Amino acid sequence: MARPESTSWALSKLHGLADPVTDPDTVPAPSPLWFQPKITVSSHSMENTSQNTPATILLSGGLDSATVLAIAQSQGYECHCLTVDYGQRHRVELDAARRVAEALGVASHRTVTMDLRAIGGSALTDAIDVPKDREADDEVPVTYVPARNAVMLSLLLGLAEVVGAADLFIGANAVDYSGYPDCRPAFLEAFENMADLATVAGADKGVKFRVHAPLIDLTKAEIIRTGTDLGLDYGLTWSCYDPTPSNLACGHCDSCTLRHRGFEEAGIPDPTKYAGTLESPSLIVSRRNSSSADPQD
Ligand SMILES: [Zn+2]
Repeated sequence: MARPESTSWALSKLHGLADPVTDPDTVPAPSPLWFQPKITVSSHSMENTSQNTPATILLSGGLDSATVLAIAQSQGYECHCLTVDYGQRHRVELDAARRVAEALGVASHRTVTMDLRAIGGSALTDAIDVPKDREADDEVPVTYVPARNAVMLSLLLGLAEVVGAADLFIGANAVDYSGYPDCRPAFLEAFENMADLATVAGADKGVKFRVHAPLIDLTKAEIIRTGTDLGLDYGLTWSCYDPTPSNLACGHCDSCTLRHRGFEEAGIPDPTKYAGTLESPSLIVSRRNSSSADPQD
């Protein structure tokens, strides 16, 4: 009886690759695509230059991810952006992502549709009210979308394989955030290790994936100053979780609160159009000691 093919062997056959275990001498020469010059930079750092090296960027249309894109471009990366239409309540951010990608002249921009409303469990994807004027506490709010960053980074990883990138950029932030676990450094580091095992590029061709989260230690005000210095127009971006029917920002959700306070602290005018007037009592989110209001943001 024939030995069942292993999954890896079956996959290599599927992709026309030699079996690295049984046919070590026939492994084709690695594509130059996968052997870009090693970038001497640790993950999550903002310091490196890598002219025309492809990178993938998770672009939500929010303030943070737009800043990350501007940073990656300033470092010389050829930026391939991915936006996920996951059925989010604030669908207006998808238009913002397109605006940002166009304005910054990215190498490519894709929108993947994957409707997480089938899972629900979040105020962003289910019939759950978005909390307003929320006091800071240690609880992860209901705007958390179950496993969202694990799902989205996996899509970004798939795109990285396709465009020959080893560098993935995400706007995760662990200072001014809502406490989402998938914005924390431990998750990002674990994903980086997983990526090397989960892909043909990593497992069979020796690519070491890097997850860059250049905003991880920045306050919202620092993020805004960084993007402003890079010439980013934040009027293109969108943060509010719960826009009005006429697509004004609510001014009261966590994301609005963090955004507006960030502009105030940065001493930079907030270009956002809010519904009604912003009263200071409605902007009371205190800095958490442990995530971005929108991890993809
Ligand atoms: Zn809002």
